[in-house]
Amino acid sequence: MKKDYVLPSLNEARKRDKNRSEKLYFSLEEKYKDLGKDKKYYIITHGCQANQRDSETMAGILDSLGYEASADEKKADVIIINTCAVRQGAEEKVLGEIGALKRLKNENPDLIICLAGCMAQEEKSVALIMEKYRQVDIIFGTHNITSLPKLLYDVYNSKQRKVEVFSKMGEIVENVPVTRFMSHKAWVNIMYGCNKFCTYCIVPYTRGKERSRNKEDIISEVEELVKDGYKEVCLLGQNVNAYGKDLGIDYTFGNLLNDVAKTNIPRIRFMTSHPWDFDDSMIEAIRNNPNIMPYIHLPIQSGNTEILKKMNRRYSREEYFELFDKLKRELPGFAFTTDIIVGFPNESDEAFEDTLSAVDHCEYDNAFTFIYSKREGTPAALLEDDIERSVKEERLQRLNEKVAYYANKNNQRFRDQIVEVLVDGVSKRNSEVYSGYTPENKLVNFTGKDVKVGELVKVKITEVMSFSLNGEKIEE
Ligand code: SF4
Repeated sequence: MKKDYVLPSLNEARKRDKNRSEKLYFSLEEKYKDLGKDKKYYIITHGCQANQRDSETMAGILDSLGYEASADEKKADVIIINTCAVRQGAEEKVLGEIGALKRLKNENPDLIICLAGCMAQEEKSVALIMEKYRQVDIIFGTHNITSLPKLLYDVYNSKQRKVEVFSKMGEIVENVPVTRFMSHKAWVNIMYGCNKFCTYCIVPYTRGKERSRNKEDIISEVEELVKDGYKEVCLLGQNVNAYGKDLGIDYTFGNLLNDVAKTNIPRIRFMTSHPWDFDDSMIEAIRNNPNIMPYIHLPIQSGNTEILKKMNRRYSREEYFELFDKLKRELPGFAFTTDIIVGFPNESDEAFEDTLSAVDHCEYDNAFTFIYSKREGTPAALLEDDIERSVKEERLQRLNEKVAYYANKNNQRFRDQIVEVLVDGVSKRNSEVYSGYTPENKLVNFTGKDVKVGELVKVKITEVMSFSLNGEKIEE
């Protein structure tokens, strides 16, 4: 039977050109405006900060259509699962979730279930869902979020399932509604996509080419957030250091950091920095602006040059150390974290030992550690995954022990110190305990009177653990 939808193509998504990306403006057609009247939505978000921010856009669009957010998926008329494709485990979890939603669909045939995010960009996932998970009504890709009103309208009117996934390099869309999930911390996209093509990573295929937003749009977004009382922004991109390269102007991420700092937002963070593009203008901007937080996430992925080459990371072990040591020297007191993959194809015992010794060298404050996960369509998927699962697990455990050791060692400097904490909320386990983060991105759990979410408070640290600090609020 002929399919009435087009499958995405990772092959198409691999293409890159040097043209500047088109800038579009979102507007809502009149006929869509009451689509969500008396209806509720529920969004499930998996994966990275880019997905969190995309879910806020989806919520903003649904709110502008008259839908209301629901805290209970059973009461929702529209459920969106915003998916992640970086690891096999994340995809399996999503399939389990879709399976479980079948019961809700049986109880309420009018329920609309949507699959969005990076899995929607994968040909094999879309084919599987269209064939085996008939409870899913809409599949839309990372480049198609602004088509949500049209897709919902079409499904209500045609009662047919809809797929809209573009495998293209992508453009920039401004003026898109957003409903932020927090009122004191905000994600701000500064660029989209990635051109690095690390051989294990699916992101350049699922999110298109590197394309930067205009600095004016970014700065006015941050200025609005300052007016609304936000205390922290996190500037987001798969590789923020490459900001501006596609704009054809002499303006780098270092320049952007300086300009965002001038908005006087109390806290600025950024995520993620590829070591390749970390230049001196960034270091200078970070050093000169006290509202840029003393925390840098610098993914190493492996401590072995051969493996780094196979990963196409574009730096050797020595080059990474050179940059890391320079950052440590020039930015004293900063906290450093990293990402590490163990069990990449052909990772020998010696290569893994190099990763352990790199952790000894860098003494990270924390590391996000993963077992290599084969992603179909990436160059690394063609390499033989020749390491036994038990070996990978043992390596991960040894690595995690080392990471915990240095995390604990680094945290000792906060014992008995007074730190500034931006309050995120009340602990899930104990309603008298609050939690938030220090400028160095250390999680602090603390007690105190009259604590409000979104406030900056002073906390005296009384207890130090590897991955968090405990303390008491200082009454000022
Ligand atoms: S820099 Fe590498 S790991 Fe990061 S998103 Fe791009 S391809 Fe993936």
